[in-house]
Amino acid sequence: MSYQSRRDFIKTGALGSLLIGTGMFAGKACTPVNQRGKAKNVIFLVSDGMSVGALTMADQMLRRRDGRPSNWIRLLEEKRVRQANMDMEAANAIVTDSAAASCSWGCGHRVNTGSVNIGVNNEIYKPILPIFRDAGRSTGLVTTAEITHATPAGFAANMESRNMGEEIAVQYLERRIDVLMGGGDRHYHPEKRSDQKDLYSDYIEGGYTLAKSKQEIGSVLPDTPFLGVFDHGHVPYTIDHIHIPELLETVPTLAEMTKLAIEKLSKNPEGFILQVEGARVDHAAHGNDPAGLIYDQIAFDETIKVALDFTENRDDTLVIITTDHGNANPGLSSGSNANFDKIHHFKHSSEWVGRQLNETSTVSRIKEVMEEATRLQISDIEAGALRDVLRGDYIHVASRRRGRASVYGEILSNHTNITWSSTSHTSDYVELASYGPGSEALEGFVKNTDLFKVMVESAGIEEQFLTFQDEMAA
Ligand SMILES: [Zn+2]
Repeated sequence: MSYQSRRDFIKTGALGSLLIGTGMFAGKACTPVNQRGKAKNVIFLVSDGMSVGALTMADQMLRRRDGRPSNWIRLLEEKRVRQANMDMEAANAIVTDSAAASCSWGCGHRVNTGSVNIGVNNEIYKPILPIFRDAGRSTGLVTTAEITHATPAGFAANMESRNMGEEIAVQYLERRIDVLMGGGDRHYHPEKRSDQKDLYSDYIEGGYTLAKSKQEIGSVLPDTPFLGVFDHGHVPYTIDHIHIPELLETVPTLAEMTKLAIEKLSKNPEGFILQVEGARVDHAAHGNDPAGLIYDQIAFDETIKVALDFTENRDDTLVIITTDHGNANPGLSSGSNANFDKIHHFKHSSEWVGRQLNETSTVSRIKEVMEEATRLQISDIEAGALRDVLRGDYIHVASRRRGRASVYGEILSNHTNITWSSTSHTSDYVELASYGPGSEALEGFVKNTDLFKVMVESAGIEEQFLTFQDEMAA
């Protein structure tokens, strides 16, 4: 079904299928929540694709380099959060993708991988941001991916495919999401969109103020909805961001975006819901890129501090800190500590390395680029393997280990002891930390869909807001 016909389908009120999406208070009993209705605000922080090894190594690096723990582990250490493991399975797969994962939280149902709040029988589930909006709360999405990407979309959009970023950008405007920040200019700019539509003008007409750089954030009007788009595609990796001065000047950090979002959203006396995604932890894991992974996990960890600052001296905010799935299960294997500490001196991501090389790159050029990116002197054999993979004639017995990401990761594991199981998502139960009203239900072992119930119930959202009314479906 096309996007247009899908919209018509919603607008003409195919309520039969919509009603299937109301299951929260029907049937099975909900997770008990002691303080129902006490959460004025919900802050949902997700480090995308964060295996436990990513959380661990970011904390270990901070302790060794800066003499302090990560905010996430400190919260656990000081027993200030409730902790659970969470099963993130999708409707059709044990190993989920980010779309099905975010939708499980965002609408309370497991959907098939790749779809955005459309059920296995074409049910159109109302996502949590429109639910909160209709209940009078402000709504926001912040990410280091394209703002139209799967994880933010899972809280706000209904789309048959996560790949329909151009349509998702339109839907955010139709649904009046108050704060949107991330990358994804290609889905807004008239010269980049397939329909040549200038979506920025549409947003301005809709009353939004815009920022396309960190400098422009300064002139954002305080009381308007806000769209910040800071890159053509995804926002740069933190390891590149901090070593390229022009990026530092023009692109805000995830923590800076989060702070601004909370400042704007918290002006609503009725409260707000905000999802913040550290998206590139996932991308670095796909790329078997240890510095990309650890530095972006640390950048995500800084958003926990922003949430902590906001909730200091208040008890009306449910804060959830989690990930949507493991990815490539990285970990520090045995060897000298000094090898792990080499990560402190890395300058660039594997994405940056990839941009400097191509299929004609020689062994000496590869060694030079790798040294610039990592401060490591790799061997001729290592550089030769990378050259072969770039040419497309690298051989490895394991079919999963033949790509550039695997070879890059294996070369660096020789020097840092950081190893990887694959270049893709894993089924591991994930870490979940939470505090504030509603978090009582989030201890031990929970299912992904439980989070939707907890957010809606703890915020005291009335049942009438849980499904689309005809006129609100756009
Ligand atoms: Zn992924």
